[in-house]
Amino acid sequence: MTKNSLVYVIPCSGIGKTLGTVGRKATYKLIEELRPQETRTTCLALLTVGDKAIVDKIRNVPCISIDGCPVRCAQKNIEASKGLLLKRFLVTDVLRKNRNLKPKGIIKLNPEGEKLAMLLAKEVAITVDNIIRDE
Ligand code: SF4
Repeated sequence: MTKNSLVYVIPCSGIGKTLGTVGRKATYKLIEELRPQETRTTCLALLTVGDKAIVDKIRNVPCISIDGCPVRCAQKNIEASKGLLLKRFLVTDVLRKNRNLKPKGIIKLNPEGEKLAMLLAKEVAITVDNIIRDE
């Protein structure tokens, strides 16, 4: 696999927040189920502390951020690390498009939260496909 066939998908930490959990769950669904060959993730805190190995990586591999809320911690950390950020997702945007879903839970999401996470994961998967196709 060349480096251009890989995309880093980095969620915010979102500790203690349902929408943060939705973003992380969406990331896991993407990298474990939907696009396991094409995607990787990393711990956002490694960017925050300036870990050289991962900072070098995200400067050379396309990145997608997934943030739980408009504070956009993942996006800001990737940008501060001069990462190759090609697309930004917000859980609140997906929630707005699916107002019938009422996600709940922090450690474990309710079924509607799981559904929202899968909807988001599918949206991100399309973006991953487009990024790889364009390269
Ligand atoms: S983007 Fe929002 S939910 Fe995510 S870590 Fe930052 S404040 Fe928490």
